[in-house]
Amino acid sequence: MTAVDLSANTNFWGCPPVACSTVIRSVADSSAYPTRAADDLRLALAGELGVTADMVTTGCGSDDVLATSFRVLAQPGETLVAPIPTFAMVEPFAISAGLRFAGCAFGAGFSLDVDAVTAAGAAVAYLCSPNNPTGTTFEETDIRRLLQRFDGYTVLDEAYIHFGGRTSIDLVRDYQRLLVVRTFSKAFGLAGLRVGYAVGAPAVIARIQAARGPYKVGVAAERAAVAVLGDEGRRWVDDHVLEARAGRRLLQDELSNRGIAFVPSQANFVLVPVPNAASTVAVLRDRGWTVRAFQDLPGLGDAVRITVGPEPVMAAIAEALEEALA
Ligand code: PMP
Repeated sequence: MTAVDLSANTNFWGCPPVACSTVIRSVADSSAYPTRAADDLRLALAGELGVTADMVTTGCGSDDVLATSFRVLAQPGETLVAPIPTFAMVEPFAISAGLRFAGCAFGAGFSLDVDAVTAAGAAVAYLCSPNNPTGTTFEETDIRRLLQRFDGYTVLDEAYIHFGGRTSIDLVRDYQRLLVVRTFSKAFGLAGLRVGYAVGAPAVIARIQAARGPYKVGVAAERAAVAVLGDEGRRWVDDHVLEARAGRRLLQDELSNRGIAFVPSQANFVLVPVPNAASTVAVLRDRGWTVRAFQDLPGLGDAVRITVGPEPVMAAIAEALEEALA
């Protein structure tokens, strides 16, 4: 039996049709190099976000943008701090940049504990809102308080922002040390094409641009990302974000009705604490479901993370999870 994959927080509904047709048309042009710094995409993103193109950088997924930013924004031996649990790749990216990784505590209800972040004496703070794997968001007032008090760089990962929470992109105008990182891999359905970007002050973006290297975004990927920002692409994205939110609501209702506690989510996934994640995931796998296991998360213990999909699929996974936990 092929498993239903609810493990990677990608777009359950697939790739926007306008991106698929754009990729097919781009194949014939793939003997040529793309633009050096995905310049067409930078322009399109600048238009979309109401900033200038020199405030945007791109990369091979937001993984690449994060890794490059960490190398640029801190010197080897300095510290990167992040409220944990958070995106699992942040620690390895920090370490590969020669940085020390320091996990700090969240405040109550997964809020931003500004004191805990500043106490780490870090050069860079990584914040993720909505956060992976909790699905929780930070309040803008707390983010502002951190930006006022913290003299290092703040990297704010908004990979899941289209599913909930309030963007902080506008804050890059007021705070020169803020970098907001985003991706086309989630709401925009292009995980396999690998396109991510960041928005920040021109001086910071210029340093990242100098370090990122040329040709990080391929011809087909750049054109598909630009296409998805057009009207037809945005309609598809917006419609499927609404479907994802409906699926999330139904999954959370189904879990509540079954007495299964979860962390209320603003993202396209829901984190469910369980006594033993490895055995829960194994039972679900035998029944045709792939979900992500987390062991011993700070403050939460074991948990499974379920990517959101259509309502009937969410009703079925809630039932399967109840059986797996019985
Ligand atoms: N940030 C967060 C919070 C993520 O969850 C992920 C992927 N799971 C990424 C960044 C990286 O995504 P990508 O490289 O596909 O843009």
